[in-house]
Amino acid sequence: MANDQLQMFDRREFLTRIGIAGAGISMGMGASNRLFASAQAGLTTGLPPLPYAQSALAPVISENTLSFHYGKHHQAYLNNTVKMIAGTEFEKATLEDIIKKTAGKPDKTGLFNNAAQVFNHNFYWLSMKPGGGGEPKGRIADKIVQSFGSYQKFVEEFSNAAATQFGSGWAWLVQNDGKLQVTKTSNADTPIATSAIPLITIDVWEHAYYLDYQNRRADYIKAFIEKLLNWDFAEKNLV
Ligand code: MN
Repeated sequence: MANDQLQMFDRREFLTRIGIAGAGISMGMGASNRLFASAQAGLTTGLPPLPYAQSALAPVISENTLSFHYGKHHQAYLNNTVKMIAGTEFEKATLEDIIKKTAGKPDKTGLFNNAAQVFNHNFYWLSMKPGGGGEPKGRIADKIVQSFGSYQKFVEEFSNAAATQFGSGWAWLVQNDGKLQVTKTSNADTPIATSAIPLITIDVWEHAYYLDYQNRRADYIKAFIEKLLNWDFAEKNLV
């Protein structure tokens, strides 16, 4: 199997196991109207495999960080979600459905937070790749220049959003009405709960970088952009 095909297979497997295969967000279909159309339903506590080895992002993100982040934090969000949906109307629902239907509901905050964090982490792992980062090429590069003026401007906006997210949260590159934008969300909040289409995300919760960078969040953000950012994934998510 060619490497590209292998990566695509891994991605499909990854999303199938958390119940969002066919969602278009990872398979290059990019259609927002298919985003919630997954036929796959019913989450299990089986964590989907990472699309690379746990040591593959070092030294930017160490194996130690990845092993706790994926094996403990991500796993806990998934376990909590599965526990919370058991015997409820959400038992057979897709992850996106759960997120959409619990967003903004004060009595569903716990489920929203856990389900959204499952999605956000799935998306974060795919937003990185060993040997990624730097200036993109092709269609995504054109979109970046159209929307931000230049790649450098995008880097400034994305870095600024990630650095200024107060406390825990995420920074995102999203597509909104055809235009690319940088946004940030607090805690578990996610663009999936809105009409924006996520293209890339960076986790800026302290657990994402503290073992490697301690309080130096800016160094983690810089290294993510320069060495890990998966532009292939961003391009496949374009509508
Ligand atoms: Mn995290």
